[in-house]
Amino acid sequence: MHLLRLCRFVCSVVVFALGMAQSVALAETDKDTIIVTNSHSWKPFAFSENGIPKGLLVDYWKLFSEINNTPVEFALSDWNDSLIAMQEGGRKVHGGLLYSESRDEYLDYVLPLFEISTTLYVVNDSEELKTQGVLPGMVVGVVRGGYEEEFLKTRYPLVSTMGFDNNAALIQAAREGKIKRMLVDTQVATYYLLQQDNPNRFVPIDRMYQKMLYAAVPAGNELLLQEVESGIKNIPPHEIDRIKQKWLNTSKTTQIPDWFWPLVGSVLFLGTVSYIILLKQAVHRKTRALKALNSKLEEYAFTDSLTGLMNRRGLDRNFASKRVNSMLKRGQLGVLMLDVDHFKQINDKYGHLKGDEVLNNLGRALNNYLREAVAISRLGGEEFCLLVPAEDLHDLEVNADYVCRFIVPQASQEGIGLSVTASVGALLVDKGCKDPSLEALLHHADRLMYQAKENGRNRVTLGSLSNQQHHRYTNQISA
Ligand code: GH3
Ligand code: MG
Ligand code: MG
Repeated sequence: MHLLRLCRFVCSVVVFALGMAQSVALAETDKDTIIVTNSHSWKPFAFSENGIPKGLLVDYWKLFSEINNTPVEFALSDWNDSLIAMQEGGRKVHGGLLYSESRDEYLDYVLPLFEISTTLYVVNDSEELKTQGVLPGMVVGVVRGGYEEEFLKTRYPLVSTMGFDNNAALIQAAREGKIKRMLVDTQVATYYLLQQDNPNRFVPIDRMYQKMLYAAVPAGNELLLQEVESGIKNIPPHEIDRIKQKWLNTSKTTQIPDWFWPLVGSVLFLGTVSYIILLKQAVHRKTRALKALNSKLEEYAFTDSLTGLMNRRGLDRNFASKRVNSMLKRGQLGVLMLDVDHFKQINDKYGHLKGDEVLNNLGRALNNYLREAVAISRLGGEEFCLLVPAEDLHDLEVNADYVCRFIVPQASQEGIGLSVTASVGALLVDKGCKDPSLEALLHHADRLMYQAKENGRNRVTLGSLSNQQHHRYTNQISA
């Protein structure tokens, strides 16, 4: 029984709370409309176009309405009428006006909204331009009931004012030449004058004052004053900047669009990636060029510069090749050491250049006619070493004889009586000769070649190298 009562009590509390919450929510959403008064011809602050309220202050109060969830209606009229409307009281706000003592009698000012400056404009002719400011007796056009009128009457009582119902009428009068001077808000004049065919017909000569536009409520309405004040404070500054930018084009803060930073990021990313790719390609290209250069330099290091044959270093490399190795194992490698006979005399008789030519021709002849050679090298001076395959001593003898009798004379030049002969030491490396060094083979081949020299030159001396490292000579071939 007790439990049932408790449940009923809890349920009624919940229903009551829900009802309260709903009524609070309704109270929040169902606020009474605020009437915003202002001019209908005060471009760009407030004006009416085809009955539709527009302008900086209109946008501002629309924003106020949205942010504070307070319905707002605009009552735009001639300036003086907008002040009269405020004197009548009610839930009204003056959308923006300057402070003055006379207005303070029937208005409570809320907060400053926008800065506004007021300038004296003069018709653009030399006579009028001579006089700066305002002098007694001058007639100055103003908006009736506007602060400009009050300002002139208080500060320059001897100046006559010509009042117009609104800014549009004032500018129209200026355009038609009815007035020569007018005191207008700078932003307003700029806006109106720029829309005319001849915007320079009136020029600003003196900025008279710079003040803040305030929002104001009918005097004594404390609740409305507080409501409007807190509502104004809710409006974010960047939204106000946006409106100013739209109507006055003066705000220095530029709104950066949402896509800007992602775009900058993407451009930077793509730029960096492209740069890395280009850098990699450049490094790759340079590495390739460097490798090619290196292999060229390496080739130079193994090549004799005069004949283009391999040099001693090249011969070393060749001797270490698999092919030579297998020839050695089979006992089928022949080493021919060749030295041009009396080369010094050739140099002496025909000149050093001719001597070079002879060496070159001999190199080419060896290359052309000794196809089976494994290596053809110039060791230096007029000394050449050839590695050739040889089945046996006889085969080597035939080969060496061919070199001596047929190839070497190719370097002769019969026209000038230059005949070239050479002495050849031909060494067969025996099967039993284990891992002989090139050094040792050259040494023995050299000795055979010197023997050919001793025996009268232009001939071959044959020998073979056995495992006992001795050599024997056979078949001395005479020229
Ligand atoms: P032999 O028959 O005893 O070998 O007599 P040879 O004159 O050939 O030998 P020798 O060693 O007396 O002279 C070799 C000459 O080769 C001496 C040197 O000036 C010349 N010579 C060495 N290298 C070059 C070269 O690159 N070009 C030219 N033109 N001459 C060279
Ligand atoms: Mg020599
Ligand atoms: Mg010689």
